[in-house]
Amino acid sequence: MLVVMSSHATPEEIDRVIAAIQRMKLQPHPMPGPTRTAIGITGNNTAIDARSLEVLPGVEDLVRVTKPYKLASREMHEADTYVQIPHTKTTIGPGTFTIIAGPCSVENEDMILRTAEFLRGHGVNLLRAGAFKPRSSPYAFQGLGVEGLEILAKVRKKTGIGIVTELMDTENADAVEQAADIIQIGTRNMQNFSLLKRVGLARKPVLLKRGMAATLEEWLMAAEYVMAGGNKEVILCERGVRTFSDHSRNTLDLSVVPPAKALSHLPILVDPSHGTGKRDYVPAMARASLAAGADGLLIEVHPEPDRAMSDGAQSLDFAGFDRLLASLHKLAEPLERTIN
Ligand code: PEP
Ligand code: MN
Repeated sequence: MLVVMSSHATPEEIDRVIAAIQRMKLQPHPMPGPTRTAIGITGNNTAIDARSLEVLPGVEDLVRVTKPYKLASREMHEADTYVQIPHTKTTIGPGTFTIIAGPCSVENEDMILRTAEFLRGHGVNLLRAGAFKPRSSPYAFQGLGVEGLEILAKVRKKTGIGIVTELMDTENADAVEQAADIIQIGTRNMQNFSLLKRVGLARKPVLLKRGMAATLEEWLMAAEYVMAGGNKEVILCERGVRTFSDHSRNTLDLSVVPPAKALSHLPILVDPSHGTGKRDYVPAMARASLAAGADGLLIEVHPEPDRAMSDGAQSLDFAGFDRLLASLHKLAEPLERTIN
């Protein structure tokens, strides 16, 4: 349910509505807008006594939110969400196109520093790299763990770059939250509800990758878990889904971008690296993501892809990234977008 306040409603009238919602043991979510405030209500819908809210002074309308996800929906929150990354003064959302790049894993300090300096030199302000790696095989490189986070923190301080890194379990939530400017939740954890609840309490934005077999509705419900916990800064990331196709690692579902934008106000990025699994296919899909209306990219770049400890085949080298960036800049102009 959404309570739409009149444009003349006073702060006291708004507070009264909030208190009434709390008395019903429901959660009010005030959303001040340019002309009026709306108050979203979450909790058990059957507990809403609509008439008692309708009659309160300053209330103009009560609107039923039909979607199972509420806070993530456009129905409840019409305006686009822009996620701010204070450390790098970056804003992620429509209009601009934010590029997050870096290796799959933190392997050592030297390669993270080299990559960060290269990216900064090219105007890219957010570095991705996993310290905790979800690997299909228990014998594959699992990431450097806490040591990896320490490397990221060191390079962040030295170069000023922002850090995007994955959190795999609640156990390491504090450490990852401290090291990251954006906490990544991987495809395999999109429906790890205890993890989603934990990052709902975090004070850092969450990059929520789409589950490899998740519908858009399930994905937005996962975002709702995070938002229901109080963290409204969620960035969606399409990374490919499982299909019968075997010509690429996954099927990058760019067709999810327009409906995600229509149904939700959250920004959406695309990961063409995991989406294709092969570096030769990455540039075309990266450009297609810009054209499809995505708000940016998450892309794997490695100083020596052939020696990478994970996902080398899909990682661009510096020269390849350079060429891609130049082509994105060219394409951004006619699309009236600026590369962040
Ligand atoms: C990654 O970004 O390196 C990663 C493991 O991604 P995903 O969860 O999409 O597989
Ligand atoms: Mn990877």
